[in-house]
Amino acid sequence: MPHQTIVIGAGLAGLSAAYELVRAGIDVQVFEARTRVGGRVHTVQLHAGQYGELGAELVDDNHTALITYATELGIELDSASKFPDDLYWFIDGMLHNRMSLTQEQTSALDNLYAKLQSLLEEQKDPQQTLDEWLNVEPIEPFARRIARWLASALFATDSELIGVGFFAYVAGLGNGGGNMRVRGGVSRLVDAFAKHLGERVHTSTPVRRIQQTDETVSVSVETASGLVEVMTDSVIVTLPWSVLRDIPIEAPLINAQREAISSLLYGGVVKTLLQYPHRFWSKSNFGIVLLEGEYQAIWEPTFAQMGTERILSCFSGGTRSLKLCEQASDLALAAVHTIYPDAPEIILSSSHDWNADEWARGAYCYFRPGDLHRFEPYLTLPAGRIFFAGEHTAPLMYRGYMEGAIRSGQRATQQILNLLSE
Ligand SMILES: Cc1cc2nc3c(=O)[nH]c(=O)nc-3n(C[C@H](O)[C@H](O)[C@H](O)COP(=O)(O)OP(=O)(O)OC[C@H]3O[C@@H](n4cnc5c(N)ncnc54)[C@H](O)[C@@H]3O)c2cc1C
Repeated sequence: MPHQTIVIGAGLAGLSAAYELVRAGIDVQVFEARTRVGGRVHTVQLHAGQYGELGAELVDDNHTALITYATELGIELDSASKFPDDLYWFIDGMLHNRMSLTQEQTSALDNLYAKLQSLLEEQKDPQQTLDEWLNVEPIEPFARRIARWLASALFATDSELIGVGFFAYVAGLGNGGGNMRVRGGVSRLVDAFAKHLGERVHTSTPVRRIQQTDETVSVSVETASGLVEVMTDSVIVTLPWSVLRDIPIEAPLINAQREAISSLLYGGVVKTLLQYPHRFWSKSNFGIVLLEGEYQAIWEPTFAQMGTERILSCFSGGTRSLKLCEQASDLALAAVHTIYPDAPEIILSSSHDWNADEWARGAYCYFRPGDLHRFEPYLTLPAGRIFFAGEHTAPLMYRGYMEGAIRSGQRATQQILNLLSE
């Protein structure tokens, strides 16, 4: 009998793991709670053949695992706004980018980035939130303001919550600068994986319990005809820990692992897409505009799409995103209007609240002061024949990215292959 593995979750971590396991000759079943695959990858079709991303969107130059799969599966990437070249701040009623800042503002930002860089190089995880750190370090008020924006606009949390050690990474220091998008939408990539895996992928089958016995693992899966126990040799769990913490796991997990699963934090994001009949801004591309308020970042995903219609992606992160509820689209429109008061009527809007999403319960993980070092040893540690993957278990520089999810799926597969070769 070939080794059998159950992969729980058909996001990019689960799909890439299953893809690699099949390649290695392992018998795989994937159980996914939603009616669709992709998880936090969620492309939606709007008017006139245009599309937008309610979940993951941008791919960096150094996201080589994703780029390799895209090439293998015949999926093209388009170039997107260059971050940070196309980054604008809407400050005191005016749009600024690096070129239009005063000399003092530029030096304030350079000073902030230099200090973050040294934190990164020293691999420190101080017992300080970003806010506490900003208050004690000699950092100019302008740079503090930008840092606080970045906490919500990049990592979906608040400066009073995120540890400064983790922030040093998410501020982009560990990542490549050039950005790309998946042509046709990122869902094309997950759909291509699912097509390759065929009947091994089961949607609408939430896993309710995982139990390891002496020689096997038993997984309780909810199907249309009730709970079914499926026995297997090993399991890869790719669920966000915000969701996993409510699923009973009877396995030799050590206390520190249980503690990490139960307390790893996830930022909240509401993403709203607004489709306009035409471009109403003067530059060729809307770039990425950071602003203060309910939405903290707005950009254009239609840069490389056909048609005169244009979409703006509006991103609300952190505790502010938790309060938008049904008003999300109206508040996104209001945010665009503060920058462009003459913006035309929209054709369509579409929104997703990742915090309220029962299969995600947040956008991506972040770390409180000290938690980065505290949890690190346990993120990838198996418990017997139960292995963990998902964005949150990825190498630090890819955590919170699709690349991280993919690399974690590949790593979990390798852990199983290592077990088999022992
Ligand atoms: C708004 C937003 C914007 C983002 N932007 C970017 C970006 O621009 N670039 C980038 O690289 N990354 C971005 N990300 C991050 C990226 O989406 C994630 O890192 C990645 O998709 C996570 O993949 P995963 O497989 O780890 O988790 P998921 O995609 O969450 O997959 C886990 C799967 O498990 C399923 N599941 C949950 N509970 C159960 C259960 N009980 N039984 C069975 N299945 C279950 C879920 O439905 C889900 O499909 C963004 C994320 C969000 C939310």
